[in-house]
Amino acid sequence: MKVRVRCPACGGTQQVSAARTPSKTSCRRCGRIIPLALTGSVREDLEVDACPVCEGRDLYVRKDLNRNMGLTAVVIVALVSAGFLWSGRDLVAYAVLGAFALVDFVIYQLLKEVTVCYRCQAEFRGSYRRTAPPFDLHIAEQLELEYSRRLQAVPGSGVETRFLGD
Ligand SMILES: [Zn+2]
Ligand SMILES: [Zn+2]
Repeated sequence: MKVRVRCPACGGTQQVSAARTPSKTSCRRCGRIIPLALTGSVREDLEVDACPVCEGRDLYVRKDLNRNMGLTAVVIVALVSAGFLWSGRDLVAYAVLGAFALVDFVIYQLLKEVTVCYRCQAEFRGSYRRTAPPFDLHIAEQLELEYSRRLQAVPGSGVETRFLGD
């Protein structure tokens, strides 16, 4: 499977192959060494049991949709149907909107699911079995806070050293 890793230092992302990546990668933007604790099931694309970046086991699944692409489509459809409305062809305008809603619904059903780590926002794409529950805002708030505290932890506490590299 492919893992989109988010750098704990600068927030830059990069995609790595779980099967081929060694035990660490370096951030392409700031050069920080990011250790990766890839489990056997992640390497073999079986299941995301633990996040290789933060070692968290709290994950969720969401539809893997491209926000920009979706927004562009909505704007285009709105403009097209507004054009038909303006030129007095109301029925065509409504037909365009209706067809778009239908296509949108079908595409949404066909979209694959991606697993995301609550703490470090790592994303996992592949043919593995989806076992994580859907997104929960309450869990997200707690774990994001915990993770940001961990990143700011005093050096030498044992946790922070994981992100300093070697
Ligand atoms: Zn970075
Ligand atoms: Zn993580």
